[in-house]
Amino acid sequence: MDVKIYQYDAVIVGAGLAGLAAARELTAAGKKTAVITKLHPLRSHSGAAQGGINAALGEGDSTELHEFDTVKGSDYLADQDCVELMCTKAPETIRWAEQMGAVFSRDDKGDIAIRPFGGQSKPRACYAKDRTGLTLLQTIYEQCVREDVEVFDEWYAGDLIYKDGKVSGVVAFNIRDSKFAIFNAKATMFATGGHARAYKINSNAHANTGDSLSIVARHGLPLEDMEFVQFHPSGLGGSGILISEAARGEGGRLYNSEGERFMEKYAPNALELASRDVVSRAIMQEIREGRGVGPNKDAVSIDLTHLDPEIILTRLPELRELAITFLGQDMLKEPIHIAATAHYSMGGIPVDINCHVRKNPKELVEGFYAAGECSCVSVHGANRLGANSVLEALLFGRHAGENIVKDLGNLELRPATEQDAAAFIAEYQWVKTNNGNEKVAKLREELQESMTRDAGVFRTAESLSRQKEKIKELLKRYKEIRVQDKSSVYNTEIQEAIELGHMLEYSLFIVEGALAREESRGGHFREDFPQRDDEKFLKHTYAYMDKDFNITQEYADVVLGKFEVKERSY
Ligand SMILES: Cc1cc2nc3c(=O)[nH]c(=O)nc-3n(C[C@H](O)[C@H](O)[C@H](O)COP(=O)(O)OP(=O)(O)OC[C@H]3O[C@@H](n4cnc5c(N)ncnc54)[C@H](O)[C@@H]3O)c2cc1C
Repeated sequence: MDVKIYQYDAVIVGAGLAGLAAARELTAAGKKTAVITKLHPLRSHSGAAQGGINAALGEGDSTELHEFDTVKGSDYLADQDCVELMCTKAPETIRWAEQMGAVFSRDDKGDIAIRPFGGQSKPRACYAKDRTGLTLLQTIYEQCVREDVEVFDEWYAGDLIYKDGKVSGVVAFNIRDSKFAIFNAKATMFATGGHARAYKINSNAHANTGDSLSIVARHGLPLEDMEFVQFHPSGLGGSGILISEAARGEGGRLYNSEGERFMEKYAPNALELASRDVVSRAIMQEIREGRGVGPNKDAVSIDLTHLDPEIILTRLPELRELAITFLGQDMLKEPIHIAATAHYSMGGIPVDINCHVRKNPKELVEGFYAAGECSCVSVHGANRLGANSVLEALLFGRHAGENIVKDLGNLELRPATEQDAAAFIAEYQWVKTNNGNEKVAKLREELQESMTRDAGVFRTAESLSRQKEKIKELLKRYKEIRVQDKSSVYNTEIQEAIELGHMLEYSLFIVEGALAREESRGGHFREDFPQRDDEKFLKHTYAYMDKDFNITQEYADVVLGKFEVKERSY
């Protein structure tokens, strides 16, 4: 076995906003840091963020109001100490990004422009046209280049070195030539982004396959609140490609096939700018009751034709392009077709307020950190507000970097051996040589279709039980896969097979969490339990998986604070 062993102070998996922000802090502080990423950093999904990044900068706004909106939006499941940290540090984060070189759009006075987003009492989404994520990602990446951050791009991390309650690095292979290496480090951080690719209709990049979740879970570590998946109201009809909330923020109106502005029924005050879970359910309800538009009546219309065309051309140019390219509809001239799309993962790897990964609700894992969408800190609780996630990734990514710098003095390097790579190499070899008759693409399609149907916007005990059985069946059939490509150079077929293994496992967490949570809260809506049940479920889910894919769950307290738990209406 020829496995190269690299040694670092810190190794970070993921080069989106969270991973790069942490890497910059570490390298600037003189710590030897490696970033491992299966994509080129600039292809990370952070670059797809269109709409904005929140900070209370506007007139009459305050960080406390930002906190309140976030906690209310979360359906009171967010940990209020973490929300306070995020909202109070948000304005400074924007200034920091600007000083780093990010060019934000401006208002008439020359201040950073802000626009309204759903579920928020004031406009507070700062933006760079509708390319906010790309602008920020490019800026932070440039700063990483300037600091000489060592990036291993097109490397795939597939296992964690975890022994005796301590993490000491990861095992990865180079996608170019399939050579394995160990990245041995005092501190290891996961910043691998979201996992909505488990759904057929989704807004996510192909790479968003939640690898780190299953990697963590295979070591018996918990995942938190996985049942909370956010369905964004406006995916392009048929594909789910995202039309940012900026379209509603700038004044887009929703209509059904009868020409009714239906949000008047569901959220009489906030209308289209109610929070995402509320608007998504309203859209899907209209479609279910036969008032959909389009050839299959599976969409509703968003109309922006009443806006000054300049607004669309200057603030939403990418959105217009997307709708023209994928639907042949020009929002300058006609309403375009949208429907709810799986978009964001509120749950993930549980971490404390300083990004240390939790072994269970009470203990931490030594030398292990997570930030960004793959983590659950939890600032979004049961439903995330638009423009709070780029903020979370950037802010908690930096915060993780700062905390690792502080902790490094107390962390020792436990030398890794080639043996630490054995399990992942065996998995890779098994995928390469297994000689069954199942196709990876077919299994993935069945997973995605069934997740959208049975673990989507509307859920029942029946649909979720059916989905649990479906995933168990797919896990069995996964043992019979066969890949055609046996080469070592850019073997994406093997990589996709490994990714499918991850997708099946974390999907099971989504479904089992949803089945056990007999209430409706935020993005999780049970038709058979339509009310929120604070007595039983004002709790975070912690779920663990054994070798036979049995999931056990426990519940942990939510950190409450100054905002009293109330009924939520918009
Ligand atoms: C279309 C779209 C629009 C959005 N718009 C907004 C918005 O306007 N405002 C907002 O606040 N939020 C928005 N979001 C959400 C937000 O963009 C993301 O939650 C956030 O950017 C995630 O950042 P991250 O650093 O955690 O992960 P990502 O940017 O997704 O990066 C993940 C990184 O992990 C790496 N990786 C993953 N697995 C592996 C592996 N096994 N081995 C090696 N590397 C791996 C990838 O290569 C990548 O570099 C949007 C999301 C989407 C999909």
